[in-house]
Amino acid sequence: MKVAIIGAGVIGTTTAWEFLRQGKQVILLEGREGAGLGTSYANAGQLSYDYVAPLADPSVFRDLPKWLLNPASPLRFRPQPDLRQWCWLTAFLRASNAATAKASTTALLQLSYLSRDTLHAWMQESPINFHHKANGKLIAYRSPHLLEKARKQVEYQATQGSRQRILGRDESVALEPSLIHLGRNLAGCVYTPTEEVGDCYLFTRGLFERVKNHPRGTALTGARVQRLHRAHGRVTGAQLENGDLVEADHFVVANGLQGYDLLRQLGETVHLYGLKGYSLTIPLPGADTPACDDDAAVAPMISVTDYERRTVYARLGRRVRIAAMVDMGDGNAHIRPERIRHLKAEVREIFPQLEVEQAQAWAGERPATPEGRPIVSRSSKADNLWINLGHGALGFTLACGSAVLLHALMTQGAAPIDPAPFKPR
Ligand SMILES: Cc1cc2nc3c(=O)[nH]c(=O)nc-3n(C[C@H](O)[C@H](O)[C@H](O)COP(=O)(O)OP(=O)(O)OC[C@H]3O[C@@H](n4cnc5c(N)ncnc54)[C@H](O)[C@@H]3O)c2cc1C
Repeated sequence: MKVAIIGAGVIGTTTAWEFLRQGKQVILLEGREGAGLGTSYANAGQLSYDYVAPLADPSVFRDLPKWLLNPASPLRFRPQPDLRQWCWLTAFLRASNAATAKASTTALLQLSYLSRDTLHAWMQESPINFHHKANGKLIAYRSPHLLEKARKQVEYQATQGSRQRILGRDESVALEPSLIHLGRNLAGCVYTPTEEVGDCYLFTRGLFERVKNHPRGTALTGARVQRLHRAHGRVTGAQLENGDLVEADHFVVANGLQGYDLLRQLGETVHLYGLKGYSLTIPLPGADTPACDDDAAVAPMISVTDYERRTVYARLGRRVRIAAMVDMGDGNAHIRPERIRHLKAEVREIFPQLEVEQAQAWAGERPATPEGRPIVSRSSKADNLWINLGHGALGFTLACGSAVLLHALMTQGAAPIDPAPFKPR
């Protein structure tokens, strides 16, 4: 069986690797000059297996005015005269209820645990150096009220197998001394010792090389798919921009946000919308040398999320990645200087020893569905067309599990988890 996979971000590349592992012939098609250069490039690096709750929950209705009116809000909504935006937003608001949020959390936890087990198995078989570490995660709360609310989520997630603890201020600082600068502003933290971190770009690039070097694998860059040809209910070929036609038995649309356009050509509309986020990457002093003890005061060893500001701080080798913000309605991944200025000011306040002036700024668009659940499913428009899209803020976390699920669905093997929540709505 020959499978053509469109897009070599973290989703397409993990899909390609799983199909090769399972004995299939694979051709991976990437439009850019290399793998992992889209949204997978400079994300927060969290393998956030226990933090999968969707953005769509009842608190959205309380927060919406702030998103519209406050330019410093971590979530910004810019209304546009764009039908796609309004359709997505309507579906998002419809999904923002307690029952849907809980069902999505349950489904996402299943997928994320499958992903974690898969990633561990793959790395045991043959490791890739992507600064992968199980360094744990602290969600830092400034408001005692929100910390108390988090306790309920911790209790619910415990019923699903998650291991988390609530820590007071002193306990939090004892565990992660670099939090000292939050001082009296820190109410406490939710600590998850099992969370992991890694560089998504290095992982994607490493896996892409593996696909390329595999005897049954072909991995092409500069191979942008312009359209899919269909006849008698089956896709017959992927037409590249250079005119070449790639033929295969099955085709997987895994090209992130741009998957929307490819599927639209065949009459399939998926609810996918870009939620822009930003990151800064700051080298630690003496970035070329191994870690030293002094580092512990400069930047957190454990990944930290400043909950109220929705900002994530993570060590990736000898660099710190800081990622934040959800901007809805920009329609591109351009960097807005005022957002970067704001982010740098936050960093200076919380980790004043970091050399913010050396930061590399980046922006990417999370390919998001309204419910926060990815689409991992057969397309309704062709028997041999498959979708692996819409991983939103969790693509790195969910990639390996989505690949395994898609392979099981395509080969009619027993699905390792319930696939129903991952069908298109
Ligand atoms: C600021 C920020 C922080 C984030 N932090 C985290 C995090 O900590 N943990 C986490 O799990 N997730 C995180 N994410 C989300 C994660 O980065 C995404 O979910 C993930 O990268 C999506 O991967 P993808 O492969 O679907 O898309 P992409 O990485 O965008 O890959 C799609 C690929 O398809 C290619 N392509 C597009 N069209 C075509 C075509 N027609 N033909 C051929 N190729 C094509 C593109 O060039 C691209 O390489 C974050 C995202 C952002 C923006």
